[in-house]
Amino acid sequence: MVKPFAWALCMILPLSGCVATSTPRYVIDSTSYQATGKSQRIKTIVLHYTVSDNERSIKTLTTGQVSAHYLILETRDDKIYSLVDESERAWHAGDSGFAGRTILNDTSIGIEIVNAGIKPEYRNTLNNGALDYHPYEHFVAFDELQIKKVAELVQDIAKRYDIPPKNIVGHADIAPSRKIDPGAKFPWQRLYNEYGIGAWYDEFDKQYFMHPDAFAAATIPEIKQAFRDYGYQINDTDAWDKASRDVVYAFQLHFRPQRPTGEMDLETYAILRALNKKYAGRDDFY
Ligand SMILES: [Zn+2]
Repeated sequence: MVKPFAWALCMILPLSGCVATSTPRYVIDSTSYQATGKSQRIKTIVLHYTVSDNERSIKTLTTGQVSAHYLILETRDDKIYSLVDESERAWHAGDSGFAGRTILNDTSIGIEIVNAGIKPEYRNTLNNGALDYHPYEHFVAFDELQIKKVAELVQDIAKRYDIPPKNIVGHADIAPSRKIDPGAKFPWQRLYNEYGIGAWYDEFDKQYFMHPDAFAAATIPEIKQAFRDYGYQINDTDAWDKASRDVVYAFQLHFRPQRPTGEMDLETYAILRALNKKYAGRDDFY
């Protein structure tokens, strides 16, 4: 029973503590009924390199406006650092898109690996700030222990959230005009072969699709649609403009890392078709 005076006070100051906290008005019953239409919020794992050393990577990822769920330093110990709880958003993906989803910070786990990226002698800004298409040799190799840690961590996360192989990607795959990490020397094929992580094409399928005539006959819209079918965001112009070549380069960094050029060619198309044959279909969008 609210006394007249107290009631009047509540009308004047509605947020002043008139809500009864001792006796809840309802309870959440989470056992009587359960829905079947549901899935994990985490859909994607995104791998990055930091382009700096241990110390600077820690500082950048713990004090600034960028972060990741996990950080793998270049050290001799067995540690993997958790910087953001998996239930929270880490700020690692930025403007991004893959497999029909955008704003991937909402639905992904981000892993940063300490690695210098492009060797210092090849870094330049001659391209007016646009993305440079560095060849394989320009990238710094990853430390073997780091790769083992990445493999173990990704295996665990992918299993817990039931993440489809295609959705284990690099930053370049989801932001091809802005990013090239984790670069050409990230061993995607090894992770697939040795740990069953991520997607990789079957060589037999690739050879099957290596027909010069089929490539010559393919129109630009058809090839772009094949990229879209796999999950890449690519524009629908009838030209291989810079933005489109950025997608080709990102794809090559991932699936043909020894020769990333940004130019569409027969082998790239054959690999793309082999991947689409193997990984057809999309995950849930309900
Ligand atoms: Zn990145």
